[in-house]
Amino acid sequence: MTHDERQVALDDVAAQVRACTRCRLHETRTNAVPGEGSPDTEVVFVGEGPGFHEDRLGRPFVGRAGDLLTKYLGTLRWGRDEVFITNVVKCRPPDNRDPEPDEIAACAPYLQRQLEVLDPALIVTLGRHSLGRFMPGERISQAHGTVHPIDPASGAPNALGFALYHPAAALRSTEVERQSYADVALIPAALVESRSRREHGAEPAVAAGVGAAILADVTPEAMPARIPDVTTDVTLF
Ligand code: URA
Ligand code: SF4
Repeated sequence: MTHDERQVALDDVAAQVRACTRCRLHETRTNAVPGEGSPDTEVVFVGEGPGFHEDRLGRPFVGRAGDLLTKYLGTLRWGRDEVFITNVVKCRPPDNRDPEPDEIAACAPYLQRQLEVLDPALIVTLGRHSLGRFMPGERISQAHGTVHPIDPASGAPNALGFALYHPAAALRSTEVERQSYADVALIPAALVESRSRREHGAEPAVAAGVGAAILADVTPEAMPARIPDVTTDVTLF
């Protein structure tokens, strides 16, 4: 697909999401939050569901958790518009309760279609619900900071999954925040790993825990572009 075709397809998903009444969450939403970012990106961040601020603005990760996510990206010299940011459910669960399994299932086709269009190399899951969608059976306490093969039914059969704690959890715990920055630093290496698997057709079968060890050897400087590698671009600073 060309850039324009991807943009049109993503806009089409967004329009469907805004009109969607497939689950009860449409009754209490102010705005649906389809997600946003570059149609050409290799990296998709998937959170749980919109919160108060996201519901008000119709945009993902724009509250305090969003500020932290933006900071994480900043440590990699990535802008929000260079990745794609979305959620497992596109409408806010009332009172910030967890999304119910039937709501996640009702909303799944939208995320699946977004991923089919984007064909990302890396899906970064934010928190338990997103982890459960892409890497069923994994526990966040074990999986954070490591790459895993993902459920091909997710819509991204050629992507590796990389798990992070939810930024809201990092806002509640300095230890989780510290760990999250360390995990985020491994994302470029996870991307390099996934690119090489896509190129060489290697079986995406990284054993749990092994990922982090492999990744520690790969530096962000090794990254070529579709995500612009601006880590060495001193003109920005
Ligand atoms: N938390 C999420 O999981 N998603 C958002 O978009 C905002 C906060
Ligand atoms: Fe539709 Fe998803 Fe919103 Fe439910 S959460 S109404 S399935 S867009």
